[in-house]
Order: sequence, then structure tokens, then C-alpha cells
Amino acid sequence: MKSTHVKTLKATCPTCKAIIHLESIAVEEDGYVDCTNCGGFLKILTMNPLKLSVAFFDDEYDDDDEF
Ligand SMILES: [Zn+2]
Repeated sequence: MKSTHVKTLKATCPTCKAIIHLESIAVEEDGYVDCTNCGGFLKILTMNPLKLSVAFFDDEYDDDDEF
């Protein structure tokens, strides 16, 4: 009998340097994840090794106003 083995991958958040744990089935190249520490939106660059970069968007919002 085979059981599905889910690997846990580790990556470093480029923003806050926290170690983020991700399940291998939840990540894919060019996918996006949230940093559980700073809440930043990160893009997955490579899977092996797992590398993340800050995801940038074209929206030119000025985020000066704190809610
Ligand atoms: Zn972070």
C-alpha cells in the first residue's frame, strides 16, 4: 500500500527573513504564497531549492493611509 507522503519545504521570507514552512503539494513554480510572519505576498521562483521573492504588482497604490 502506498500512502501519499507530503513533504514540508522550508524557505526564507525575503522581507522579514522568517522561515516559512510550505507543504510540497501546496507550492508550484510561479505560484504565490503568503508569509505567515509578515503577511507579505511572495512569488515562488524555484522549487528546488525553494526560493521566494517579493511579489510585485503593477498597481501603483499609495499605501500611506493606515486603516
Ligand atoms: Zn515575511
